[in-house]
Amino acid sequence: MRKYIVSILFVAILVPAWCAGSPSEKKKKIKPPKNIILLIGDGMGTPQVYAGYTAKHGNMNITNMAVSGFSITYSANDYITDSGAGATALSSGIKTNNASIGVDASGKPVETILEMAEKRGLSTGLISTSAITHATPASFIAHTANRSKYADIAFDFLKTDIDVFIGGGYNHFAHRADSLNLIDSLKARGYFVARDLKDVDIPSTHRLAALLADEHMPRMSKGRGNMLPDATEMALKILKRNKKGFFIMVEGSQIDWGGHDNDVAYIVDEVVDFDNAVGKALQFAAKDGETLVIVTADHETGGLGLIGGNIATGDVQGAFLTKDHTATMVPLFAFGPGSELFTGVMQNTDVFEKCAGLLGFK
Ligand code: MG
Ligand code: ZN
Repeated sequence: MRKYIVSILFVAILVPAWCAGSPSEKKKKIKPPKNIILLIGDGMGTPQVYAGYTAKHGNMNITNMAVSGFSITYSANDYITDSGAGATALSSGIKTNNASIGVDASGKPVETILEMAEKRGLSTGLISTSAITHATPASFIAHTANRSKYADIAFDFLKTDIDVFIGGGYNHFAHRADSLNLIDSLKARGYFVARDLKDVDIPSTHRLAALLADEHMPRMSKGRGNMLPDATEMALKILKRNKKGFFIMVEGSQIDWGGHDNDVAYIVDEVVDFDNAVGKALQFAAKDGETLVIVTADHETGGLGLIGGNIATGDVQGAFLTKDHTATMVPLFAFGPGSELFTGVMQNTDVFEKCAGLLGFK
């Protein structure tokens, strides 16, 4: 009985104090970050995150991030987005048609956050476990209404001053129908072109084009190893040298492909790997103190439902509604200065607006 009275008193005293405090809380100035690391799990809905959580026995980096929210993903012309329109919303703050990258619904190029960062002297990077010319990374650097024009997209990389890009897609630079050799062009512009991350000497590397597969990187179960977390760590070491800051997008591309294949084991492997890359970003941000880390997805893939599992053994069983994407909201997680803006339900385009606002681009 006494405990009950004490807790009522506690509420009576604290609640009005908290309510009175909230308007001034709202006015509290948000400390802007110097750097932003945006990590996109392609096709990573809430069930995919929880499948990873289960496989990691509850020790997940993503779910340890303090701030969370949801992103609404519909595109300009479809209730269900593809990765091109989904990533363009995140990169440029506009809803565009499916299959479009870096252009609006009328086909007009839009400036991306990576290009805005370049223009203002920040360093930039892109990392992907697909070809680097695939829809998600391409939406940050290329402009076309047809996401499958890989040769054109590769050419767009040379129109920017991007500092680091790591992924597959060597053939789109080296073996082209127009017989241009973009590998030589990259070298002429001061890039160290690597086919293996082991060949990269970080202290002497200032611009890095690491094209580690002819097309896409292999899936985890076919020997990709720690490429994604290693690439993330390496890129951050290179980008952090810029006193003005940096923007980098890191994609776990193949969570989506596990969804298209309705393959739970594929999804789990890819989410766990993506979470390890998130861990590298969080480690950097916790030490640095001036870096905002955002983890989200472009859409969910597969309509995954978790119909059984065990946190202790890490076993997950799933069932699927479709071999395609779904319309469901996707989760969003944030850590670091400015992270407090990323709560509640927002449009995918708001992710760009908030990031561009925090970096002073708007
Ligand atoms: Mg993708
Ligand atoms: Zn997909």
